[in-house]
Amino acid sequence: MAYKTIYPYTNETLKEYPNASDADLEQALATGHQLYQQWRQEKPESRSKILQNIADLMQKKRDDLARAMTYDMGKLLTEAQGEVDLCIWIAQYYAEHGAELLQPVPLKTKLGNAYYLKQATGVIVAVEPWNFPLYQVMRVLAPNIMVGNPMILKSASICPMSVQMFADLVAESGAPAGTLTNLFINYDQVAAAIADPRVAGVCLTGSERAGTSIAATAGQNLKKSTLELGGNDAFIVLDDANWDELQKVVPQARLFNAGQVCTSSKRFIVMDSMYDQFLEMLKTAFSQVKMGDPMAETTTLAPLSSKSAKEKLQAQVDTAVAAGAKVYYGNEPVDLPGQFFQPTILTDISHDNPIFNQELFGPVASVYRVQNEAEAIQLANDFSYGLGGTVFSSDLQHAEKVAAQVETGMSFINAGWSSTPDMPFGGIKNSGYGRELSDLGIDTFVNQHLVLKP
Ligand code: NAP
Repeated sequence: MAYKTIYPYTNETLKEYPNASDADLEQALATGHQLYQQWRQEKPESRSKILQNIADLMQKKRDDLARAMTYDMGKLLTEAQGEVDLCIWIAQYYAEHGAELLQPVPLKTKLGNAYYLKQATGVIVAVEPWNFPLYQVMRVLAPNIMVGNPMILKSASICPMSVQMFADLVAESGAPAGTLTNLFINYDQVAAAIADPRVAGVCLTGSERAGTSIAATAGQNLKKSTLELGGNDAFIVLDDANWDELQKVVPQARLFNAGQVCTSSKRFIVMDSMYDQFLEMLKTAFSQVKMGDPMAETTTLAPLSSKSAKEKLQAQVDTAVAAGAKVYYGNEPVDLPGQFFQPTILTDISHDNPIFNQELFGPVASVYRVQNEAEAIQLANDFSYGLGGTVFSSDLQHAEKVAAQVETGMSFINAGWSSTPDMPFGGIKNSGYGRELSDLGIDTFVNQHLVLKP
């Protein structure tokens, strides 16, 4: 059985889940399609209540959901609770604004009166990762419920407990059958689902490897797709950065969720004048983390999500060092049974270092020294990813100008990354295409149906 919850703090296998059969998939497609036929006759307003009920039940089961995420992939319980709160916020946002965002849009044309409707298109397949087991799902589920698109979910194989608990909660909240069907399916079954005529599109959050495969299948079947892939976000520290603010932001920008965030700040690009001081600050912060039981409030750094995640990160750090990178801090074994990785600072990463253009998915900060702003921008753009990024400066207008020159999907001035329901989320280059959340996210899988009348 491929779907397993192995608690990364103890390495204990807590539960295994049998794979879904082809018959299960067929049943999910049929139920989803039937619901789509029903929903397309109804107004979005009628679905606000479904989302509100889900949000209310999540509030009641907040701690159960959070604990399940911690068991699945090891994140701090406090961070998991924050994730549930964000999911509730997203559900409430679309329950409140979804119908308005889906109103017909009037158009100016010389031919008469025109407008376009925003209509449902059919069942959507969602393929989601483990780093935010519930938030990633809610980002696509909430807007599509309002649109009227039922969803079939394939979660990461390491986080079945929390995802199934959430799918059960959706059913328990009174949502009609087919609203969200979680299936423990394999890659071939995902491809079969995408190819099925009842499916209108696929959204994936995950790695480039998965993105290439899912997008190819979608393309072969003429299905719309969105890809939310990895990132290697630059955090540019300009000469006039406010030091007190910087100190508050930097450690969390890298270490939140044990550094396993697509929009974590992964590359710190620091002006020469602040470089030494910056490294010392980061080292102090990294050396103060408390690793241990992710359920304990006093723990500040969780284990990585799995043994293989730790092995992969260690191999990348080893490769970096073998190719000339220097370890400024960290990279020592952690004397705990779980999948812990000591926060690590790498410097002197040359352009030809094999890890230069790789995403390090864990608590490892790469720090670069630059002599001027042009060099900082060039370095920020010299990567195949373009998801998020930060610019730190006391001069906000100036920081905005610098941010606009970075080839990325999201920029945060004097702050680490953030995500709220009302801000679009997504990237460019190898970080994928399409946007989730906000008014942009709700339009992803709608039929923009033009109507012209005299
Ligand atoms: P992953 O290995 O690509 O897996 C993501 C999901 O895709 C999982 O459910 C996985 O299933 C599935 N999958 C992989 N290959 C597939 C295929 N060929 N056909 C069908 N399904 C397939 O990525 P991950 O390691 O879980 O997640 C980490 C990555 O996600 C990082 O690169 C991170 O930056 C990125 N991410 C991006 C965003 C964003 O919004 N841009 C947000 C969070 C994470 P299995 O588990 O069964 O392999």
